[in-house]
Amino acid sequence: MSIGENAASCLSSESIEQCAAIIRSFYAHGWVFGTGGNFSVVLSRDPFRLGMTSSSIDKSAILPEHFLVVDAAGKVLEGAGVPTAEAGLHHAVLELVDAGAVFHTHSVWATVLSSALASQNGLTFEGDEMLKGLHGVESHTHREWLPIIENSQDISELGGSVRQLLAERPDSHGFLIRGHGLYTWGRTIQEAKQHVEILEFLLEVTGRRRAMLLA
Ligand SMILES: [Zn+2]
Repeated sequence: MSIGENAASCLSSESIEQCAAIIRSFYAHGWVFGTGGNFSVVLSRDPFRLGMTSSSIDKSAILPEHFLVVDAAGKVLEGAGVPTAEAGLHHAVLELVDAGAVFHTHSVWATVLSSALASQNGLTFEGDEMLKGLHGVESHTHREWLPIIENSQDISELGGSVRQLLAERPDSHGFLIRGHGLYTWGRTIQEAKQHVEILEFLLEVTGRRRAMLLA
């Protein structure tokens, strides 16, 4: 089978269909307005093939044809678009954690809190039942640290920050980039979706609680 035939079958895979539907639902939640956010799904590990959203796609109407198939070096094997500038961050995450999908959103609360709490390098979630939606968390008493890293337009620099962070905290469920958004992942597409939903929920709860205290 040629690379083209192989990759064409990848782009029409159920995983890409599922991921596109999830992204459209995230748009409806307000987590990926404009062309914000990017998403990747591991299609095969040997050889490594990653399905990834193309750059500058309106997430409200994203379809499988708006994905690319790339190899471990980020080389585009299939698809008509341009790789997102943040592709290197997806590869950095996949090098260090056991993930089958990496999802990145640009929500209001991720933007607000990652800016407001940047000097603390992260924030802690605790006491909320919804924490149990994170893989491996079994009680609302769990303390979940969500790190914040500095934003940069230099993706190799950002990738270095991500590698350092995940080497130090391999049990992380995600991280924030200051004034930018949330990265999270899961062993499966469904788990990555759930982690976005849980972390976005906890970010909004945290932000609303803080706003109430200020009022
Ligand atoms: Zn982004």
